[in-house]
Amino acid sequence: MPPVYSPDALAPMDVAGRLPRLLERLDGAGCDALLVTKMENVRYLSGFTGSAGMLLVSPDGSLLVTDGRYRDQAAEQLAAAGAAGIELEVDSATAQPDALASVAARHARLGLEATSVTWSLQQRFASLFERSELVATRGLVERLRAVKDAGEIDRIEAACDVADVAIAQVKGMLAEGCTESQFAAELEAEMRRRGSSGASFETIVASGPNGAKPHARPTDRVVGAGELVVVDFGATVDGYRSDMTRTLCVGAPAGELARLVDAVYAAQRAGVRAVTDGVTGGEVDAACRGSLADAGYGEAFLHSTGHGVGLEIHELPAVAKDSADILGAGTVVTVEPGAYVAGIGGARIEDTVLVGTSGCRPLTKSTKDYTL
Ligand code: ZN
Ligand code: ZN
Repeated sequence: MPPVYSPDALAPMDVAGRLPRLLERLDGAGCDALLVTKMENVRYLSGFTGSAGMLLVSPDGSLLVTDGRYRDQAAEQLAAAGAAGIELEVDSATAQPDALASVAARHARLGLEATSVTWSLQQRFASLFERSELVATRGLVERLRAVKDAGEIDRIEAACDVADVAIAQVKGMLAEGCTESQFAAELEAEMRRRGSSGASFETIVASGPNGAKPHARPTDRVVGAGELVVVDFGATVDGYRSDMTRTLCVGAPAGELARLVDAVYAAQRAGVRAVTDGVTGGEVDAACRGSLADAGYGEAFLHSTGHGVGLEIHELPAVAKDSADILGAGTVVTVEPGAYVAGIGGARIEDTVLVGTSGCRPLTKSTKDYTL
């Protein structure tokens, strides 16, 4: 089976344009330079995809430090990204701090990424950068990452396409008496065959009463007729992720399950309709929550409505109760209401959507017809 997209045809990303936008924001965050330690942020700003490294961003030149494993890769990726003003220092982990310290010493206020620096690292930085005041920053790069460029949207959409094709290919298995684990394994294998570099998170396949646990792990339970099966999964293309949930049923849903799944579908439609440029995450959440409450399932909705998707499976903006995050044009978010009834089962429907200036465009397009 061929991949569903051509890697060479993906639109280019504007990596070089990101560092200047970050530099403009440093003063407002109370710092003159920023030490970027979260690897997704390092990747976003420099194009470097290795597993270890730090990027010190400053107006008079930036420095990427990494170790010998990434000597050639880091140089190639920096050149390919065209990010001007980033120097590369390849050194042992013990020598890297000296290189960083010599740059940091030129700046009175050095920002750290508070949510990714461990206690021990912070202590190390305090002695290493003793000539600078250390400033805790939160979400500086993450807020930039929330708005995607054309290349990023292309990659997320390709990951969504892979997931769409894969579920269509394998879902018939559910009617043949497979287990949750077998189905998850086959779905992930099909996504790999179609061009995914790996599942975007641990695939959820939850059948019957297991579906009442929103984040159940696949088990050896055999999927039976008439019960709901919650399948939550995604693909990864060039680091960018997709996220989709479909609730499926072998035959007709038994008992109150048809009413449950229909209520979730209605709530998901209400949520997608609410998504447009300028709406808050809280308003979209309220649309889903209100719809489920009207159907009598308000108490059964146990989680937030959605989240941003990109280099991480959960990123900004938050689509949650009372979230003031703005869903601006170019942000990519999920809309995923669910209802969960202990001992009976659950349903969740999720699409990844691109926010536009008027409404939104679903990037996941799998059928919502749940009967197999
Ligand atoms: Zn999901
Ligand atoms: Zn999700």
